[in-house]
Parts: sequence; structure tokens; C-alpha cells
Amino acid sequence: RIEINKYPKLTEVGSRRKEKDGLIYSGYYSKEEIKEIVQYAGSRFITVVPEIEMPGHCLASLAAYPENSCTGGPFEVTNKWGVFDDVYCAGKDSVFYFLQNILDEVIELFPGEYIHIGGDEVPKDRWKTCPKCQSRIIEEGLKDEEELQSYFIKRISKYLNSKGRTVIGWDEILQGGLAPGTIVESWQGMQGALEAARLKHYAICSPYVYTYLSNDIEDLDLRLTYLYEPIPAELPAVDKKYILGGEASLWTEETLQNEVDEKLFPRLLALSEVFWTNPPNRNYEKFHSRVKKNYIYLTQAGIMYGQEARAISFSSSYIDEEKEFIVTVTPGQEEIKIHYTKDGSEPDNTSAVYNAPLKINKPLRLKLSAFLNNNFTGKKINLLFGLHMAVGAKLFLANKYDDLYKACGNETLVDGILGSDDFHDGLWQGFHGVDFEAVVDLGADKIINEVIPGFFSDSNSWIFLPVNVEISLSQDGINYSNVNVIENNIPLDNRDVFIKNFKVSYNNQKARYVKVMAKSIKTCPPWHKGAGEKAWLFIDEIEVK
Ligand SMILES: [Zn+2]
Repeated sequence: RIEINKYPKLTEVGSRRKEKDGLIYSGYYSKEEIKEIVQYAGSRFITVVPEIEMPGHCLASLAAYPENSCTGGPFEVTNKWGVFDDVYCAGKDSVFYFLQNILDEVIELFPGEYIHIGGDEVPKDRWKTCPKCQSRIIEEGLKDEEELQSYFIKRISKYLNSKGRTVIGWDEILQGGLAPGTIVESWQGMQGALEAARLKHYAICSPYVYTYLSNDIEDLDLRLTYLYEPIPAELPAVDKKYILGGEASLWTEETLQNEVDEKLFPRLLALSEVFWTNPPNRNYEKFHSRVKKNYIYLTQAGIMYGQEARAISFSSSYIDEEKEFIVTVTPGQEEIKIHYTKDGSEPDNTSAVYNAPLKINKPLRLKLSAFLNNNFTGKKINLLFGLHMAVGAKLFLANKYDDLYKACGNETLVDGILGSDDFHDGLWQGFHGVDFEAVVDLGADKIINEVIPGFFSDSNSWIFLPVNVEISLSQDGINYSNVNVIENNIPLDNRDVFIKNFKVSYNNQKARYVKVMAKSIKTCPPWHKGAGEKAWLFIDEIEVK
């Protein structure tokens, strides 16, 4: 949000939003503040490029001036980030005059050559039903709403060109045809840049997978960031000149203020080198040794830089003959020391140090914590080993787990490791909008006294307990008996985060096959924020004793 003299409601209305707790959150840059930023950057040879979003991502502007929409509103400034159906009306000339007047004031504030006009994530729903937008399509001989978007961008680009400015837009500005002279910023992947270069347009490469520093370190570690190549290999040599460079983005709607430093550093150092160094001169190991030295400067500058990779990751395998687990732990970087305990206590920097795979041959709780310079990093893993009869057994699932929460894959529910109270811990498996049904094959008849499937409840994260769980036993895998149904007695609207075991007890029952069916609520209930959307069912283990 910046101050625009001609349209005071942009900041009076558009810069204020009501949070869920009813409090007002507001803020904007005054013209004096913008001038100060531009000057501060300029004295360090940095050009600040403003991005004035259009024709989408403009709900706050429409809340201030609803007449610029297709429907006339009213609208509220949203307190969530996302893509919204209401966008600027492309059929009203007054919308273009409004934007041109804003751009006039923006141009005065930013002396650089470039103005970014967004152009990304524009739903076309409103345009399809708006008489003015439809008249524009007919009058201008446009094919469809995609060409109407192109008309919008071309008209604004022409205006900015007449003021001596060059326009940048996200790769969606390719839709319906590029405006002459515009620069494409490729965020969805490298395809937009390739297409731009083919059309002899300049491009900036900032694919979200490699350059969005709001990504978690689990998804984008330092090495992966450094391996990014901003000039697509498939680009013909003569067209390489069309790649101007890249951009690292930190989206603060996805980043809390206290996470900004750790998300930017050290990954920004990697992208700086990638963007400014010829490929033959890039070498991760050499770069990495220089990063170490940079930590001293970052510390002196008071920058709370983050980790280079996920602080701890683990893998576990069960050796049937030995009746033991082998647990391998990998620290995210060499300076990280892993301390662990097996007695349930929290590890500190005097606890045992991990330096070789651990053997575990009895039920216990293994706690591993990552330390950097003797300080706890806040990253830990808590593994509860249960040596029950189903560990290492064959498991058949009627409905597949969702790839987003696959945990350790097919063996997860019989790997002997119970999930913690963090459903992201890699031990919980998620089923999306479907019932859960599994058959455990113990390999031979066994004497069974207990079957204990564990489920997770966190309605805020759309994870609900099953309606009921049915457990039955079989010796031949065809005929099941000893059917027990356990109803869930906890109200769905319970907001607590907890684990619930649906335990069934038997009296020395002989069986080879154990069937567990959990009935999902499938969709989030009407009172829930995700009403009608698919609900999650999370399970970590089927213990058989
Ligand atoms: Zn319209």
C-alpha cells in the first residue's frame, strides 16, 4: 500500500483489514517514506521496481473504489491471502483512467526504468458475465476473456511506454498475446521464460520451486537453491541474451516477521552467486566454504540466519531375524550435533551424541535433538518404538494414502514407530476424503490380545477422528469374525490437538489377518471453515499385541 493523493480511500480503506479476532491491522508507505527507500537503495546502486497489481489481486483497491469492479461491490479488504474472483472491470474506460492516474503518481516516486504490473492469477469469472466486458470483447474483435486480459495489459503497457517506462509482468501476461516490449517474469516454472525468448521478449526467471525464499528449508535447502540454473538449458544459444536474470522472492504473507532473517539467509547468498556468476565458475563445495565465513559477518550485522537444510532427518528399518530396528539419523549440516536419549527425557547438550546408526530391540521412546554451537536449534524428532506383532508384517490398503502425507509409504502403519503430537513428523499417514480400510497379514496364525489403531485429531487442520472403527479377525483372509465396532465418543467440534487410540481387546484369539476399517466423515462439517471440502483422516500405526 502506498499513498496516492488523487485516491485517498486507497489508504484510508484499502490499507485497513479486520483480523479474525476483530482487531484492525493497518499500514501503508507515505510518499516521503517511499522517497527515502528509493534514495537509500539508489545510493547502493539498487533500483527499486514497484509492482502495481492488475487486473487481479486488487480486492483492497476495489473495497475502496467498488465502482471499478464488474459488479459494483461492496467488498471488504480480506484478511487472507489468495486469489479472488473480483478483479478490475476491463469494459469500463474509467478503470483505465483510474489506473493511469495512479501510475502517474507511481512514476514520480520511482525514477527507474521498470514498472511491474503483476498480471498474474486473474480469474475470468466476472468478465464472462459482465455486459461491459462482453461489449469490449465484441468492439475490439477479441476472441475470448484471455484476449481481454491481453487487451488490458497492452493498453496499460502502451500508456507506460508513452511515459518512457518498460513493463514487467508475471508469466500470465502471455495469455492472449504479449504486449510489445514487455518483460515476462516466469514464476510458475521456466516455460514462461522459454516462450518469451521464443517471441524475442526479455524474461526474468524466478520459478517458485527454487527462488521463493518463503519456502520452508525442508522443501528448498541451501544446496538445491545453489543448483538452480536461471538460463534454461533448452534455450538456443542465440536466445540466451533474452534472459535478463532472476529474482528471489520472500512473500511475507507466508512468513512471520521473526522468520524473515532465517528464510532469507543463507539461501540469499546462494541465489546471489547463481545470478551473478557464470555457470563454469559455480561450485557448491567452494561456495559452501565461503558461506561459513559469511556467518561471522551476518552475526555481526545482527542477522539471525537460518539452517542450511532440515536439521534432522531419519530413516528406520526393521531387521526381522535380529528383532531390532536400525535407525539412521542425518544432520542437516556438519556443524549440527545430534544428542539423544532413550529414557523419555528431553536431550540436552550433555546427552549421548549420535555418531553411528542406533540399534533398538525393545519398546522405548527415542528423542533426538539438534544442537548448533551447543545451543538447541528447536528442531527435534521424537520416535516411539513399539515392538508389536505387526511390525514388518504385510499391509494391504483398500484406499491409497494421499501423497502429501505419505509418511514412510506402504510400511508406515506397521513400522513399529508411533506418531508424535506433530502431524508433520513424517510418521502420520493422511487419507483425504476417503474411508480407511487395511488388512494386516501376520504371515501365520498368532495369538492376539489387542489391536490398537491410533488416529489424530486436529479440526483446525481439517484432520478429524473417524466416525467409528471396525476391527475383525480372520484365519483364512476370507471369512472375518470377532467383529468389534468402536464408536467415536468425542464431539467433532473439539478443537484440541490429540491422539486417540481405538483399542479392541481379545482373549487369546487365534488369527493371521487383522482388518481395520475406519469410517471417515469425508467432508468437513457445515460449521467448519472448510465446510464441504474433503476432510483428512490421519493414522500412524496398527499395533497388534
Ligand atoms: Zn466488467
